Amino acid sequence: MFSGGMGEDISPADFAQTSLGGTPAFVKLAPGDKGDGFPLNILKDPRTFTPQPGPKGEIHAWGIYGYTDPRAEHYTDDNSNVPEFDGVSTMIRTMKYQHLYMGMDKRKPEEQFVDVLMERKKERLKRTNLGTLPKQDVIVKIYLAHLQDSTGQPRVWRRFRVSAGIKLSVLQDKAIAPIMGWVRNLHAYTLTDYRDGSVYGPEDSRAVDMAHVAQVGYDFLPDDKYMLAHVFGKGGDKIGYLYDFGDKWDHTLVIERILSVDDSDGSIKIVDGRGMCPGENMQGSFMYSKFMEEFDAADYVGKQAKKREILDSPNYKGFGKPPALFDVTFFDINAAHERLSAALASTNSIRSGAKTYTMPLHPQAMSTNIDELKKGQSIVRDFSPDSLGYWQETTSTKKDKKSETVCGLCGKPGGVEHKTCSGCRAILYCSPAHQKEHWKSTHRQQCSRKYIKTK
Ligand SMILES: [Zn+2]
Ligand SMILES: [Zn+2]
Repeated sequence: MFSGGMGEDISPADFAQTSLGGTPAFVKLAPGDKGDGFPLNILKDPRTFTPQPGPKGEIHAWGIYGYTDPRAEHYTDDNSNVPEFDGVSTMIRTMKYQHLYMGMDKRKPEEQFVDVLMERKKERLKRTNLGTLPKQDVIVKIYLAHLQDSTGQPRVWRRFRVSAGIKLSVLQDKAIAPIMGWVRNLHAYTLTDYRDGSVYGPEDSRAVDMAHVAQVGYDFLPDDKYMLAHVFGKGGDKIGYLYDFGDKWDHTLVIERILSVDDSDGSIKIVDGRGMCPGENMQGSFMYSKFMEEFDAADYVGKQAKKREILDSPNYKGFGKPPALFDVTFFDINAAHERLSAALASTNSIRSGAKTYTMPLHPQAMSTNIDELKKGQSIVRDFSPDSLGYWQETTSTKKDKKSETVCGLCGKPGGVEHKTCSGCRAILYCSPAHQKEHWKSTHRQQCSRKYIKTK
């Protein structure tokens, strides 16, 4: 991809990522829009567009951005596959032309382009025969990209087993978030099929970081309509997981093994892992890798201060121990099991009511979204005694759609055979045995609408 070898000069034009203006082959520009400032590919015809992989063979974000210029200051081999989003050009473009597209039915050129790519992908998905894959379990290794130890191995990773038949939305909410150690329903995210760059995400997300959707591919297919089996084909395939459009935590999922139908029971199981999850809001993968370099170089006192920074994050709220007992290299598998069990034994997150931190100085905040709540939904607020603000999230006591849930005990994806708990009518089980087991272990104390909506 990047030649620039012996005697060859790389000219800046070879890495121009952004249109300087021109007539697009397909998308319609509003009168007055000179077609400058968006990714070059938007000038092409999306009906025939073939996305090009980056240097590592992966296609990110529909393939519409270029890849990192190797002359860039932050270039390392590890980010050679990172799509280069030109934030400055995009900001200027937004300021110049945004008002031209304010009308209800006026899609921006970038969105018009991605609309066609999404339609093409939907058609391909319709024709895809998944065979028995949705009934097969896979072993997945997920790791934080751009964060290696001295031997070049991922510093933070988890290995788990899950059914390929799980919906991508449920995979993110009830497996990836709790297993990694991120807060559920706090930020937007995408899952990317690196084979063709197609992007999936939460359709009705109201997370604040949705404001940055132009940096991650402009739009995505609804992740509650497609399952894990849709985004890989064989063992070794890689899937991108981008968490938080603002900070940008880049993860890679590798399908390490595909189990036979006979060896599959659909349950979610954590196998092993290494390294503590970074703190939420610690500015994303690149800044965190710098943070960890400083951590490695710091003396004892310096290390405690750095640990305190991580522990001050919302995902470490319950740690409750002094920083000296916080080991960044350790993966606390028991704590991960607890988070996973709690997630499985709850209803799916309501994306339109993602967690937000609110300062009560804004009086209108208390009534946010009240009119928009659907049946069974309510707003839960968590006032913490040691701060001025509170966390707010919309939750639901209505049971999940069978196609979008998993067994409350083992995590097996739902189907017509899943039975609802007759007490709370919110949690579903794959078998009477699992319902009984869950009742005895925890659900007896939790089987009430009130508990489920506040958990
Ligand atoms: Zn089960
Ligand atoms: Zn119940």
